[in-house]
Amino acid sequence: MLENKDQSRTSLSDLGEFKLIEHLTKHVKLHHKSTLKGIGDDCAVIENTTNNKILVTTDLLVEGVHFDLSYMPLKHLGYKAVMVNLSDVYAMNATAKQITVSIAVSNRFPLEALEELYAGITLACDTYQVDLIGGDTTSSTKGLLISITAIGMADKKDIVYRDGAKPNDLLVVTGDLGAAYLGLQVLEREKQVFQVNPNAQPELEKYTYLVERQLKPEARKDMVKLLKDLEVKPTAMIDISDGLSSEILHICKQSKVGCNLYEDKIPLDQQVISTCEEFNMDSTTIALSGGEDYELLFTVAQEDFPKIKANPNLSVIGHITEENEGVNLITRANQKIEIIAQGWNTMN
Ligand code: ADP
Ligand code: MG
Repeated sequence: MLENKDQSRTSLSDLGEFKLIEHLTKHVKLHHKSTLKGIGDDCAVIENTTNNKILVTTDLLVEGVHFDLSYMPLKHLGYKAVMVNLSDVYAMNATAKQITVSIAVSNRFPLEALEELYAGITLACDTYQVDLIGGDTTSSTKGLLISITAIGMADKKDIVYRDGAKPNDLLVVTGDLGAAYLGLQVLEREKQVFQVNPNAQPELEKYTYLVERQLKPEARKDMVKLLKDLEVKPTAMIDISDGLSSEILHICKQSKVGCNLYEDKIPLDQQVISTCEEFNMDSTTIALSGGEDYELLFTVAQEDFPKIKANPNLSVIGHITEENEGVNLITRANQKIEIIAQGWNTMN
């Protein structure tokens, strides 16, 4: 995990907006020839060739709504804010090239806090080869807001939308599910223990994978590369930000198809299984509704099955059906239950 720096405080108002921007962005490195101009002018300038299409996505993160700084270190927050956006670009089967970062910040935050935030942002940019090319900086009356826009590129023929799934396609997910949500539960539990007893030492050893998945998610750039290497182009794809059930419903609705998802095929880490037992939670519910996994969910034609079947990062979890068959979970007991946005509908 990323380390936290100790606290000294420089007031933002002593520094002024321009010095602040200069200070925060002085370590920014550019990785792409296509970035003709980065930070420092009225606009950034990006090269575009005729074959490439440009993809654009934005996310806005608000303190108290999307993150809680009492257990989210600012460096992790910066890293995660970038991941959330890159994940959307990879979900289109595209390459992320540039980001802009806009922040609104109250005077409660010293310069050192923003340095931490930008350390996470630049680490993400360097690790994922993305150029930070601009943004905006302003004050807020309360709390921290971060808005990131990511710009990606892809050949027109490579772009994968949500609406291309066809009956008989296989439904595939990368990695494993549910850990990020459980990581949040663990952190919230520790926060409450800490509020009651500030001397309590956090007990997180058992949950390292879960906490890591919550605090330092990785967008699946590697899976986009893997699909390219395997010569598999998904028919539809989406990233898992809200939970498996909600993302399956998006693909099915936009593709006008149904789906059978098999409960026993959903990939779960051992820590997810043991923590669900400990917390008396159902691991299928967590995987379906938890969210923030930032894995990729996609559909492929049956004929591509030989290319993906041996890969430990890819799990076939179901198949696409005709629309009138509905969107269903096939349970371990072989019961068919309709999937709804947050979990499934037991009334059916
Ligand atoms: P303008 O007045 O044209 O909006 P600014 O003074 O806000 O310009 O920004 C100066 C430069 O710094 C621009 O290139 C802008 O994109 C960049 N910038 C401003 N804020 C940020 C930020 N929070 N992160 C990264 N770059 C930023
Ligand atoms: Mg500005």
